[in-house]
Amino acid sequence: MIDTIKLHNIIENSTTNGPDNRFVIWTQGCSLNCDGCFNQSTHDLKGGFDLEITKLAEQINQTSAIRGITLTGGEPLLQSKAISQLLNLIDNTLDILLFSGYTFGEIKADSSKLKILHQVDAALLGRYNKELPHPFYGKKLVLNGNRIKKEELKPWLNTEVIIQGDNVQITGLYKQSV
Ligand code: SF4
Repeated sequence: MIDTIKLHNIIENSTTNGPDNRFVIWTQGCSLNCDGCFNQSTHDLKGGFDLEITKLAEQINQTSAIRGITLTGGEPLLQSKAISQLLNLIDNTLDILLFSGYTFGEIKADSSKLKILHQVDAALLGRYNKELPHPFYGKKLVLNGNRIKKEELKPWLNTEVIIQGDNVQITGLYKQSV
């Protein structure tokens, strides 16, 4: 059986989803239902598309001029096994940033999710709180080593428009301060 991962979208080159130029993976499926979530089209656990993990790893490893990958969603840790497999296959010079709605406590209580925390360089954890001025506020930052530095994950407000074939995507963070 070929292992697959359920995805919402991928972008090979983005400068608004973490430090420098990054390959961004939006997984499909989230059951956390944060009030005011700005990515509701990623929630449906049956939506999105399936991609073979080996093919995704190959695409990442062949993408030039990227510093690392960003895992976001949806909720990447709902697919911990697939994410772990993927991370084992990618070029180890790439740094890895994870955004997850799960709290550190919830992750610690689940060995498959905790395994991912050991495989990434940095993670911003916890539910989205629409009352806060920026989506990063209220999150817990976890750093493994120093490939991604704390200063690089200061709240940013940038957007970019990415055109891939017929697909036009606006990405980044553009929440207004309150
Ligand atoms: S964890 Fe992220 S995708 Fe899931 S409901 Fe919360 S903000 Fe939305």
